[in-house]
Amino acid sequence: MPRPKKLRNVGSPPNIYGMKPIGIRAADTEKLILNLDEYEALKLADFEGLSHKEAGEKIGVSRPTFTRLIDSAHKKISSALVEGKSLIIEGGNIHFDQFLYICEDCGYRFLKSLEEEVTQCPSCGSHSIRNMANHFGHGRGCCGRSRRNRRARRRGNSNRGQGRNN
Ligand SMILES: [Zn+2]
Ligand SMILES: [Zn+2]
Repeated sequence: MPRPKKLRNVGSPPNIYGMKPIGIRAADTEKLILNLDEYEALKLADFEGLSHKEAGEKIGVSRPTFTRLIDSAHKKISSALVEGKSLIIEGGNIHFDQFLYICEDCGYRFLKSLEEEVTQCPSCGSHSIRNMANHFGHGRGCCGRSRRNRRARRRGNSNRGQGRNN
């Protein structure tokens, strides 16, 4: 049996599911998949300005792996821009550290921990809120990671960190 791959950390889901080009018929655009770990590499290094070393540590990958990750992200973004392709953000062997919610009524966006039960918009009180992680296949408790960890904590920390640091 192959060893399970170590999950990469993504701070929180993206604000969008992807991007499409302007000035070309949607039906004519080719689609490029930008994985969530590639998205996170761009966000940390290019957008937030972290060094590659810092960004790699946050995601939980080695320096050479980070370099491959961000090179691949740059190639995809430049291809989308130059060749007019749609970018679809999905996939990657990842877990989210936090959830991002969007209120369907007022547009308010807010981050919450994976454990927290969220049913209402803190800004307008609406119950029409969308957990962006659901779209990326990391819904409630982010694939059960936090539930597993909660159980581990109740058992007295015997398995703390299992599945993330091995
Ligand atoms: Zn709202
Ligand atoms: Zn998950």
